[in-house]
Amino acid sequence: MNEAHESLREAVREVRAGFPDEYWRALDEKREYPEGFVRAMTDSGLLGALIPEEYGGMGLGLSAACAILEEVNRSGANAGPAHAQMYTMGTLLRHGSEAQKEEYLPKIASGELRLQAFGVTEPEAGTDTTQLTTSAVRDGDHYVIDGRKIYISRVDHSDLMVLLARTTPLEEVEKRSRGLSVFLMDLREAVGNGLTVKRRRVMMNNETNELLFEALRVPAGSIIGEEGEGFRYIMDGMNAERILIAAECVGDGRFFVERATQRAKKREVFGRPIGQNQGVQFPIARAHVSVEAADLMTERAAALFEAGEPCGAEANMAKLLAADASWEAANVAVQTFGGYGFDAEYDVERKFRETRLYQVAPISTNLILSYVAEHVLGLPRSF
Ligand SMILES: Cc1cc2nc3c(=O)[nH]c(=O)nc-3n(C[C@H](O)[C@H](O)[C@H](O)COP(=O)(O)OP(=O)(O)OC[C@H]3O[C@@H](n4cnc5c(N)ncnc54)[C@H](O)[C@@H]3O)c2cc1C
Repeated sequence: MNEAHESLREAVREVRAGFPDEYWRALDEKREYPEGFVRAMTDSGLLGALIPEEYGGMGLGLSAACAILEEVNRSGANAGPAHAQMYTMGTLLRHGSEAQKEEYLPKIASGELRLQAFGVTEPEAGTDTTQLTTSAVRDGDHYVIDGRKIYISRVDHSDLMVLLARTTPLEEVEKRSRGLSVFLMDLREAVGNGLTVKRRRVMMNNETNELLFEALRVPAGSIIGEEGEGFRYIMDGMNAERILIAAECVGDGRFFVERATQRAKKREVFGRPIGQNQGVQFPIARAHVSVEAADLMTERAAALFEAGEPCGAEANMAKLLAADASWEAANVAVQTFGGYGFDAEYDVERKFRETRLYQVAPISTNLILSYVAEHVLGLPRSF
């Protein structure tokens, strides 16, 4: 994906030029949201890459979106505060009514509204999404929502949230994946009127929250698609999400390899560049090999996705390979920088914390291995 979409990559670099390393460092220290950067990415149209032109977006394919997110992370910035719009919007685009799409998509493309929040994870259900207990009960023209969510990102910097809640109790459905529904919730109306948002401090600068729903009333028209089909709608978006996250990890990996290489050439110890020692060279070279291999799998998954072909195996493998490669490269970069690798001023430690997330979220490495074992290799189901 390196040479493809060069004009988009150039556009990302232009936006990024206004938000140098010091900008990210200062925000990281204060745990603040990169409001200016996200605004500039929106104004440039880049965050609307996947929104069809008829709704005011760029109407591009997934590989173009991958190039954008990869380039953000490769530059040393973090796509995390902005990336949800790319993959969450797909649920609305694929399963929303024409009226919902006409109402929201042009405003999301222009930046008038932000759809950056995605509420699935719960304290008790964890990875087993079908066990989630946040309920939405129909009451006349409304649904009444009760329950809890955890680690829901960007809620304070989003106008809208895609929420997954149970509309039919687990005991009453034939399959545990049925009876869940997706809502497009207006956060501006919900917060303080039945929705309480409490910040969680996590390892990296990521606005992440605990949500408490107490008899929150949302209009019945905010449901996306058919009641009870929400799990399928969310699963539909998973392949795109995994491929996009893989691209971000490739970007992180390239950032680490590039910074480690520059450092190894410049830093002199024992009267010669540290990069002259094979003990320093080889780990960087190996990390580069891993990142480039992960990039090929990501490219393949994106091409299959764009061609409308099945790509579950490739999307999952790309996510795993890329998350592993970025983490390997992160470790190598810290090692190459020595003490400076722990120093905030050199940006490697910040990116190290940021890229660690992708071993766990949005899907953990174990769950990907489980998918490959069962769905690709036909091994017996373990859960
Ligand atoms: C910074 C951050 C931001 C996030 N943002 C969002 C967001 O915006 N929206 C949202 O909905 N969620 C978000 N999440 C939640 C994230 O998707 C979950 O944390 C993740 O899916 C793992 O779920 P869990 O934390 O409940 O882990 P658990 O389900 O408790 O799992 C813990 C560990 O056990 C392993 N495990 C569990 N079951 C099995 C099994 N059967 N076999 C093998 N291993 C297993 C898992 O792989 C994992 O490593 C975010 C998380 C973080 C940390």
